[in-house]
Amino acid sequence: MREYTDAISVTIDNYIAVFKDNYHVDDCDIYFMASGEASAYLEASCRLFERFRQVDKKGILADAKKLASSCTKHNMPYIILHNILERFKNAILCELLKNEKQASVAYHFLRQVNIALDRISKHYLSQKVETFFENNSRRIRTIEELVDTSSIHFFEGHLLWLENLAHAISDLDTTALPELSPAACVLGQWLHAEGKEIIVDEPRWQHLDLLHRRLHLIAKRVEILLKTTPIDYHYLLLLLEKADLVSLSIGIDLTLISNIEYIKHSSKDPLTGVLNRQLMEKIFKTQFELSKTLDTGFALIMADIDNFKQVNDSYGHVFGDVVLKEFAKVLIASTRKSDFVIRFGGEEFLLILPVTTMNESKEIAEKMCSRFAMNSIDREGKPLHFSASFGVSYVHPEADESSSQRHISELIDDVDQKLLLAKQQGKNRVVS
Ligand code: GH3
Ligand code: MG
Ligand code: MG
Repeated sequence: MREYTDAISVTIDNYIAVFKDNYHVDDCDIYFMASGEASAYLEASCRLFERFRQVDKKGILADAKKLASSCTKHNMPYIILHNILERFKNAILCELLKNEKQASVAYHFLRQVNIALDRISKHYLSQKVETFFENNSRRIRTIEELVDTSSIHFFEGHLLWLENLAHAISDLDTTALPELSPAACVLGQWLHAEGKEIIVDEPRWQHLDLLHRRLHLIAKRVEILLKTTPIDYHYLLLLLEKADLVSLSIGIDLTLISNIEYIKHSSKDPLTGVLNRQLMEKIFKTQFELSKTLDTGFALIMADIDNFKQVNDSYGHVFGDVVLKEFAKVLIASTRKSDFVIRFGGEEFLLILPVTTMNESKEIAEKMCSRFAMNSIDREGKPLHFSASFGVSYVHPEADESSSQRHISELIDDVDQKLLLAKQQGKNRVVS
């Protein structure tokens, strides 16, 4: 033991010094934490490695747990902590193995570190399962209130399936596992029957089918792991995280499909063929809730034809209507089938674009602006050109935001202000 403690002490001292020297405040960005939190974490990591000087297994386990607790408290992603500790471990091992006589020291060290890493994975897994259950039941509650179309309804079935998978993982119990065959679960059955008819877009259907099969493969791997001893907490945790991510992608796909279904069956403005304003509140609320549930942002665009009163005055109302129809056509042609185009009033339109980033929505608005300006509309054999202005804003609801009602009017005011700026800055432009 003396041989062990002597050999390892020097190596650990050297490595901790190198580690501290190389650790810059800038790195905190990579670890998603404030510099104060990062240094607290660094201290805890070093303390854990200092422990390995001794042969005290109890102390090592206690420190591993402390480190995992402080990291989960600071939302340190598991994979980052794991990678850093692996690097730490490998560096010390390399150092020890430079001297052939130290092979048994290296072996002992490796065993100790692996016990600590396993404890960290176990702790992270129990935390992950807890937050998973919270998020999943929040999602299920939201979906229950929003059931409007069949695809969203089947997302609920899918979330219940996922909850069973998490139960099997948290209780290490294979009997809690959900249906493992992708063809036999609720979502799988829907996907191959009604879903196939609703999702007319073949690549979209294939993408969803692929995600769904991938999720079932993950569940099968979980089953194998639960039957293997010792339990590999590290791998179980990675599988649960992966299942959560794939499930969110499925939720996003089903939301977009549900939007297409909803738009198809909703009442439209007779002149322009876009959605009626009466639906706006409901659409807004649903998208807001789904966006919270799926942790994705959405964009709002307010679009208004420039000098439209003058168009009416110069060419008459009937031709004004033609211009309005052409404008609506440009809006529809420039957006996806799952985006909502609503006639807000007169020659003003509100667009709600789910699962869209700020940059994407700006590009879409620019595209609509230039398309409409370049579009010539024929009047008695003469091509006429018109323009429109656009305000764009991006919404990312916080998961803990309880009331969306206040937000709706605030968000509309915000995008309206941007449209007003576009008008003040000379029209025929986009302000975001
Ligand atoms: P700005 O560039 O600032 O937007 O000026 P504008 O003239 O476009 O805006 P204003 O709000 O002064 O005028 C909008 C006009 O749109 C007034 C209204 O008569 C006309 N309008 C509203 N609905 C319809 C419709 O359904 N058909 C037609 N032809 N005109 C409409
Ligand atoms: Mg106008
Ligand atoms: Mg107007």
